[in-house]
Amino acid sequence: MMADSFFENKRILVIDQSFKDTNDRTWCFWETQPGFFEQIVHHRWENLRFFSADYTDTIRIQPYQYKMIRGIDLYEKVSRATSTRSNIEWRFEKVMAIENEPGKVRVRTDLFEYTGLYVFNSIHFTENGLPAKIDKKGNHFLLQHFAGWVIETDTDCFDPGTATFMDFRVSQEAGTTFVYVLPTSARTALVEYTLFSESLLAREAYEAALKDYIGRYLAVTDYTIQHREFGVIPMTNQSFPLQNGRIIQIGIAGGQAKGSSGYAFRFIQKQAAAIVENLRSGGSMRNRLSLADRKFRFYDGVLLRVLQSGRMSGADIFARIFEKNPPGRVLRFLDNETGWVDDLLIMRSVPTRIFLPAALQQLFSW
Ligand SMILES: Cc1cc2nc3c(=O)[nH]c(=O)nc-3n(C[C@H](O)[C@H](O)[C@H](O)COP(=O)(O)OP(=O)(O)OC[C@H]3O[C@@H](n4cnc5c(N)ncnc54)[C@H](O)[C@@H]3O)c2cc1C
Repeated sequence: MMADSFFENKRILVIDQSFKDTNDRTWCFWETQPGFFEQIVHHRWENLRFFSADYTDTIRIQPYQYKMIRGIDLYEKVSRATSTRSNIEWRFEKVMAIENEPGKVRVRTDLFEYTGLYVFNSIHFTENGLPAKIDKKGNHFLLQHFAGWVIETDTDCFDPGTATFMDFRVSQEAGTTFVYVLPTSARTALVEYTLFSESLLAREAYEAALKDYIGRYLAVTDYTIQHREFGVIPMTNQSFPLQNGRIIQIGIAGGQAKGSSGYAFRFIQKQAAAIVENLRSGGSMRNRLSLADRKFRFYDGVLLRVLQSGRMSGADIFARIFEKNPPGRVLRFLDNETGWVDDLLIMRSVPTRIFLPAALQQLFSW
């Protein structure tokens, strides 16, 4: 909205329960062009490495770049940019409820009440801060949970031109499990231990797995941990209400985390751009998924079904897809940007005897 003069004379209130002054997350995503947050891209890679038991490769992803943005850089950029706008105000309060009223919407916080024409809501009003599960046939729900360390070494240990996108050589006992390694210099890397499963591990288990991976696969024993992060992202094909009256759901609360990968950052940017375009053109907000959105939601459902049934491991699925397709097609597919021909070529990479029954079951929601 700040980038569009249409909103210059609109009063915008941003409410968050806390001021963001820590680097609580790192976002990675891929793009072919300079993006909206190009100036704060912390590092970028043109080569991605993939490891599994029977397929290992280093893939050049041009025209894509895999980009990293640190949470703190984004928070500071937004905070600085908004500080010069008299029409944008921040309040640090806990939102307790959001209610539609005739012609307006009311937000109740722990301190005050506000009314506005629209509310863009990214809060899940649940105890665990995750979307409420909708118990319906055909809905699958996994969690992507991960712990990451930024480690620093005294000697050159990493290739800053190549990121490890997925390393499945770790134990798969607790579910689909892999590690990313994102080197930002020869001596610094973010190493992230990630699982797709139904429940979280004990905190110590992530730390032990990271330590083991760094020693065993990176062959690094002398390092200091500069930063730690932990996250949980819902992986689901369930439908999220996009809009309720004047309340527009955004971010993960608006269903913008891809069900089969957990990637959300670019989806959120695309949703934000679409909302801005709708508001400025006076169009009504889109409250239904497009045909393409529904198609990808269906694919996500099929993949989640296969993962939950255990009929094929996530390691094998991703290995087959990466092995048998050019990287551009895979990245477009993961971004929900492929057409039918590319979709069919991706589907041909995975075994029909597993995916066809799963697709039929998903279609008829057995
Ligand atoms: C550690 C981590 C790493 C991630 N890495 C990636 C990645 O590499 N690539 C990718 O695509 N996605 C990634 N994601 C997923 C996704 O992009 C992020 O979770 C993203 O921040 C989601 O944006 P959001 O706006 O939905 O939620 P958030 O960014 O979580 O924003 C929600 C906001 O609501 C505030 N809030 C919550 N409750 C209240 C309340 N009651 N009152 C007032 N304020 C409230 C919170 O303080 C927060 O600021 C990651 C997520 C995490 C947690």
